[in-house]
Amino acid sequence: MKKKDSKSACKSFSVRLSRFWTASKNFASQLFFPENMKCVFCGADIPNFEERPYCDECAKTLPFNNGHRCQICDVPIESEANVCDFCQKGKHFFKKAFCPFLYDGVVKSKILAFKDSNQRWRAKSFARMIADRLDGVNIDVITYIPMTEKKLKKRSFNQSQLLAEEIGKILQKPVLSCFEKTRDVKAQKTLSYRQRREAMVGTYKLKRVKLSKSQNVLIVDDIITTCATIGYCAGLIYPKVQNVYACAIARQYVRSNSQAPHYSVEYLMPKF
Ligand SMILES: [Zn+2]
Ligand SMILES: [Zn+2]
Repeated sequence: MKKKDSKSACKSFSVRLSRFWTASKNFASQLFFPENMKCVFCGADIPNFEERPYCDECAKTLPFNNGHRCQICDVPIESEANVCDFCQKGKHFFKKAFCPFLYDGVVKSKILAFKDSNQRWRAKSFARMIADRLDGVNIDVITYIPMTEKKLKKRSFNQSQLLAEEIGKILQKPVLSCFEKTRDVKAQKTLSYRQRREAMVGTYKLKRVKLSKSQNVLIVDDIITTCATIGYCAGLIYPKVQNVYACAIARQYVRSNSQAPHYSVEYLMPKF
């Protein structure tokens, strides 16, 4: 009898220990990887993060970049054209850009939280949503838009690098640091497209990296606004590889009927 009691006490202790272990793991997981349990946009419980990191309610209202859009730069197009005015007149050194969202609403606020509130755990779910868009695209190497040393020290991480590393894990492709940012430029919002392009010259440099003409490279950024940054970096790498692709969490979209700045379509090849 005594033996049985000790056996059942032992069993109940191991059950409690196992429950405690599961609860601790869940707590630790929520603390360090909160997106594993919750919708990454509203925080509601979701059954399977790995399949889709957001809930049904958010799925109804998220600003997906799913409408008619430019086949090159992924910007929404209001006319029936397949390529936007900008891409028709200018030249992009990337073959195609992939952005699952528009830079708006809750997506915009969570991207800002990712960057400015040190919510680096968001990289994993954003990367998952970008990678879903890359289905069928032939990629050999992944790289990212860099920050200056000064900015990197201040923020302590580069959000585009974190995204690239998570995309690399999903696609099982190597991540290579190809670019260097030599100086910070004025906040780009205040600059015209021509000024943005001029400010790029010498701001980004291609590092001495081993690339080959047979490789397809993916450049990762957090947001694509006018394609000035990613277009410039694509231009630096373009002569050394087969194809360059671009991707970001969100595409900034300026509606044609708003007071959009007039962008020059002049697009210069970076000087090597
Ligand atoms: Zn939600
Ligand atoms: Zn375009």
